Amino acid sequence: MKNGNNRQDNHIKNGNNRQDSHGDHNRHNGHNSHNKYDKYGMMKELMKCDNESLVHILWKSDTQIFNMLISSSNSHDARDKLFNHLNDIERHIFNIYSDLHFKDKNILERNNAKECIKVFKNILRTENENITSFSALKMLYKLAKEKISPEDLNRGFISEFISLFKGINCNSGIYNEKEVPPFVKLAGLEASLERTRVLDNYSSNIEHHLRRYKTGLDPDLIERRQCNKRFIQEFFSCSENDWRNYKWQLKHVIDDIDTLSKIVGLSHSEMRGLECAVKHDIPFQITPYYLSLFDRKNTGDYDHAIRAQVLPSENYCVGYMKSKDSGSSLDFMDEKSTSPIKGITRRYPQICILKPFDACGQICVYCQRNWEIVNIKDATFSKEAMEDAINWIDTNHNISEVLITGGDPLILGKDIIDWLLSKLSEIDHIDRIRIGTRVPVVLPQRITYGLMDIFSEYHELGTREVCLVTHFEHPTEITPSVLWATNMIKAAKMNIYNQQVFTYYNSKKFESALLRKTLKKSGMDPYYQFNTKGKDETIDYRVPIARIEQERKEEARLLPGSIRTDEPVFNVPRLGKSALNSWQDHEVIMILNSGKRVYRFYPWESKQALVEPYNYTDVSIYDYLNRLKHDNEDVDEYSSIWYYF
Ligand code: SF4
Repeated sequence: MKNGNNRQDNHIKNGNNRQDSHGDHNRHNGHNSHNKYDKYGMMKELMKCDNESLVHILWKSDTQIFNMLISSSNSHDARDKLFNHLNDIERHIFNIYSDLHFKDKNILERNNAKECIKVFKNILRTENENITSFSALKMLYKLAKEKISPEDLNRGFISEFISLFKGINCNSGIYNEKEVPPFVKLAGLEASLERTRVLDNYSSNIEHHLRRYKTGLDPDLIERRQCNKRFIQEFFSCSENDWRNYKWQLKHVIDDIDTLSKIVGLSHSEMRGLECAVKHDIPFQITPYYLSLFDRKNTGDYDHAIRAQVLPSENYCVGYMKSKDSGSSLDFMDEKSTSPIKGITRRYPQICILKPFDACGQICVYCQRNWEIVNIKDATFSKEAMEDAINWIDTNHNISEVLITGGDPLILGKDIIDWLLSKLSEIDHIDRIRIGTRVPVVLPQRITYGLMDIFSEYHELGTREVCLVTHFEHPTEITPSVLWATNMIKAAKMNIYNQQVFTYYNSKKFESALLRKTLKKSGMDPYYQFNTKGKDETIDYRVPIARIEQERKEEARLLPGSIRTDEPVFNVPRLGKSALNSWQDHEVIMILNSGKRVYRFYPWESKQALVEPYNYTDVSIYDYLNRLKHDNEDVDEYSSIWYYF
């Protein structure tokens, strides 16, 4: 750290040498037992530290920042010094004439440092303190001055700044112990062979990770689910024909704890969640088919994502009631303010959503529209309202695409679906009708020859596309019954797109990569990868934005391009999707004491109009890693997550 020392010397020369009078200086600056954390990939060790040790590591990660903080007379003074310091690094970091140490750092570390500096400057800005009503700078200042104790700080907060300080100093360690691959210096066949060796290593690493998860097409899982199916059939005295009949499935949707607990094992916490749902009248519903995908013995082997999809947790119910009782809206996307007429939602220039029905075959716990989805027995369809909505589309020539969703429109009867598609197909300016449905996932029996005849009538190449958009969440949901349904749909030359919601339950290393691979070879195209909506009640499901970005770069990116066709997006209330791949669309503006990052999102149309940015408080990276650790994940494999902003 030649330059680090230089900069420190300069700093002391400038009279800011309070560190010498700070009796405890050596504990932050000297060689001590925390040196081992200099290495990247020590998350497990870091998570074992108490707060005091974490703070020691923090100051050791950037002794200059520590010195500036303790030598400042107040936080404003500290802000000035830190801005000057960061500007100074920024100037030198890519200056080829600089005699400072950065040029012996590799370009990737320097590029990472540039990002870290940008984030730290954002955090220091008074405007961002004002927006978030919090000052991370003041916390750091008080901590350095020992006006607050390490115990007053959240471990997530300290961990964020350890990573940031290391990053600023080109010491993230992400690139440590990685030599430039030899093929770069070779040419011709020699280079090709060496490159092949490197790529083979990547590939076997991917396969190693993918083997950790099952798909619903694994012979072992097919067999286990056949047993489940037989058990459920016996339970309901149902024939094979009944099972294949979607109406039988809908009639026997499981929506009470008694039936559910007689068919599948439920843990104490699952029972508590279900009881809470019943107590507060929060609907839950599972089709017999989807229930057959559960691991009946509840061993935790493979059905975590499936259970999480339909069993409301206690946390969810409490959060749901809290939001409802406080009068704050469950309508995160503020659909009420984007609905020009009943049954229509519009957020984009050429697309609108048509909502003919308010129920689904089964209810997903984290449904975006949980505020309006009702139990299937209470569902209604209003032809008059739909006629008005379709007339609105007819008179608005800017709309070329309609997404029919709801609820699940494919739960509606054949005649109504036919009527809806025929009315929309009569409108010349409609090029595409998308049907948003979870039927392929939870009720593949609904894909009947009769339904396909209707689709075929309106899906006309060159005139109008009718396609399906569905929501597979996990590779274990893709079963032989799903293949049967997708074969029928593909036989009608229709496309099926998948929108995955990236939740805690499908966010482990390469878990979503296996979903993409399995979808694609089953005839479905990965389309969007959604960040979970920031609804308070869905806290158990939410994953830090940094993880979705890490997943794209370190997992999805390794797959062939034809498989990773989905785009990661964040849905900005009212305004719609912001791309998470694009840093122009969002930036970190604060790290709160809870360890949560606050992001500012610049909506998709910010180059077209002066739309207000949207501020979003994410879930804490530290808490996410801690949860993974409790679920026996190797958190060291996720260490670079801190450097995704
Ligand atoms: S299928 Fe869609 S609309 Fe229905 S509950 Fe699930 S997410 Fe909500």
